[in-house]
Amino acid sequence: MPFNRREVLAAMLPATAPLAGCGSMQAVVESPPTEQVQAHPPLLASESDWSSLADRCKADPDLDRFTAALLARARSDIALPSLEHTLEDGRLLGVSREFIRRSLQWAFAYRVTRERVFLDRARQEMLAVAAFSDWHPDHYLDLAEMTTGMAISYSWLFNDLSDYDRAALRTAMVDKGIARARKGHITFRSTNNWNQVCIGGMVLGALAVEDDEPALAADLLAAAHQGVFIGLKAYRPDGVYPEGPDYWSYGSSYTVLLAAALRGNKDSDWGLLDAPGFKRSAEFYAHAIGPSGKYFNFADSNEGQELPCAIVYLARELDQPALLTAKRQMIRDRQGLSDRFAPLSVLWWPTKTGGNTAPTSFSGQGAQPLAIWRSSWSDPNAWWFAIKAGGAAHSHAHMDAGSFVLDLDGLRWAKDLGMQDYSSLESRGIDLWNMKPGSSRWRVFRLSAEAHNTLTLDGQAHSARGMATLRMVAEREALIDLTPALLPGQVTRATRRARFLDDAVQLDDELLGARPGSTVRWAMATEAEVRLEGTTAFLTQKGKRLTVQFEGNVIQLDVLDISAPRRDFDQPNPNVRQLVVSGKPRADGSWKLAARFSRG
Ligand SMILES: [Zn+2]
Repeated sequence: MPFNRREVLAAMLPATAPLAGCGSMQAVVESPPTEQVQAHPPLLASESDWSSLADRCKADPDLDRFTAALLARARSDIALPSLEHTLEDGRLLGVSREFIRRSLQWAFAYRVTRERVFLDRARQEMLAVAAFSDWHPDHYLDLAEMTTGMAISYSWLFNDLSDYDRAALRTAMVDKGIARARKGHITFRSTNNWNQVCIGGMVLGALAVEDDEPALAADLLAAAHQGVFIGLKAYRPDGVYPEGPDYWSYGSSYTVLLAAALRGNKDSDWGLLDAPGFKRSAEFYAHAIGPSGKYFNFADSNEGQELPCAIVYLARELDQPALLTAKRQMIRDRQGLSDRFAPLSVLWWPTKTGGNTAPTSFSGQGAQPLAIWRSSWSDPNAWWFAIKAGGAAHSHAHMDAGSFVLDLDGLRWAKDLGMQDYSSLESRGIDLWNMKPGSSRWRVFRLSAEAHNTLTLDGQAHSARGMATLRMVAEREALIDLTPALLPGQVTRATRRARFLDDAVQLDDELLGARPGSTVRWAMATEAEVRLEGTTAFLTQKGKRLTVQFEGNVIQLDVLDISAPRRDFDQPNPNVRQLVVSGKPRADGSWKLAARFSRG
C-alpha cells in the first residue's frame, strides 16, 4: 500500500515530545522530510515498533538500559575509520558483519534521536562499502550479509538520503548483490544455515530496491520462495536445530528477518514461521541456556550466549516473554551490544514482561536428538542437565553422541569444549568440511569423541556415519542407544540412560558384546578442581562443590590435564581437565558404569 512517509515521521516523532524513559534519547527534530516518497514501508520494523519505543523503555528497565547502551555505543563508534575491502582467511565475512552492526546502529540512532551526526556516519559507511570492488561472491555468505546491512540501512534512511546517494547504494545492491541471484543461486538449495542466510539477504535486497527494480525483485522473490523451505527442514520435527545453538541464532535470525520483511512489504510471510518445528525451536534455544548463562554448546557452538534478534521476535510472536529470561540477565551484565542486529532486538522487544511459566523439561527428535532438564527457571542455583544423541554425520557436527553438560549453583561443571575457530584449522591444512571417516577434521581434539563427555573404546574415534538415537522413557528419563555411534564390531549394544532427579542426576552406561581385553573410557571435561577418593570424585569450583560417585566393573579414576594443545593445530583449553573412568568388560563382554551427580 502506498505510504506517506511525511505523515508517519510526524506521527513517530512529534517535535515537542521528549522520549520519556529513554535517558539518552533526545527528541531533536531537525530537517523536514524531503519530498520523495518511499512506496513501501521501511523494512523489518513497523511504525508502531518505532513510535512505541519510548513508552516501552519507560515500562521496562531492561529495554531502557539496552537502548541507552546501544545509543552510547553508536556515539562512541563514530570515530572509527571506515571499513575497507580486506579479506581475512579468504573471506570478507567479518567486514560484512561489522558493516551490518555499524550501519544498523547508526541508522537506528538517527531515527531515534534525529542527530545529524548519526545520519552522516551511516551514509559515509554505506557509500564506502558500495564503492568496494565487489562483495566477495566467491563466499556467498559475505555478499548476502553485506546486502542485508545495505538493504536495511538504505530502507531506514531512505527519506534522508539524496537522490544521488540512493542511486549509488541501489546500484551497488543490484550489481554486487542481488542480480547474481535473480533466478536463484546454488545456496538456495542448501540444506543448512547457508540457505537461510543467503535467501534472507537476497530477499531483503530485493525488497529494498523493489520500487526501482520491480522485475528483478519479482524474479528473485519467486526463486527464493522455491528454495526457502529446504533450509527449514532442519527444524523438523521438534525444533532442535542440528547445528547447535550458535547456528540456531544465525540461521533463525535470517529466517525471522525474512518473515518480518515479507510481513511488512507483502501480503504474506509465506508461512515461514509455521514451518514444522520452527516456532518450537525458540523453546529449544531457551532451554539450551543453563543457569550459568552458558549454552549446551554442541556441534560448532561457543559456550557464551548471544542475544539473537530471532529469540526476541519469537518471544513477542509467541507471546512468551519468558523466553527472554536469560537475555535480561545479559543486558544487566552489559552484554549483547555487539550483536549486529541489536537495534532490531530493541524494536521487537515485547511489551509484556511476566514470569517464566515454561516447563522445566525439553526433549526433541531430529538429526541431533536431545533432552534438557532443570529444577527451576527462577532459582539461580538450580540443577540443569542436557544430553544428546545423534553424532558426527551432520553439518557442523562433532563426535559428541551421548555427550552431556551440567550446571549447578550457577556454574558449569561438565562442559563441552566447543568449536575451534575455522581459520586456525584451515590455515594448517585441516580438511575441515570433510565429514567422512578418516577426514583430518576428526583429528582435531575439540571435535573428537575423546574430548566429549561420552564413552569411547580402546582410544578409537566414534563412527563418522552412525547416529545414536534417543528415546524418552519418562519426562525426566532418556535412553540413548549409542551402538550406531561406536565403530562396527566394538560392541553389540551400548546404551546410556540419564535420569534427572531434581537434586541429583543419574547416568547409567551399559555395554554388551565388548571384545575381551578392550578398554572402556568414560570422560567428563570440567574447569573444577577434582580430588579422587576411591570411586568418588569431589569437584570444587568457586567455593561450590559437586560429588560424582561411580559404581561399575573394575574401574580406575584419573584426572587428565587437557589444557595444552594436543597437536600443533589444536587450540589450548585453559584450565580444563578431564575426569576419566577406565574399565574392562567382564568375560561375557558386558560392562556397566553408574555415575551419580550430587551437590556437596
Ligand atoms: Zn563439541
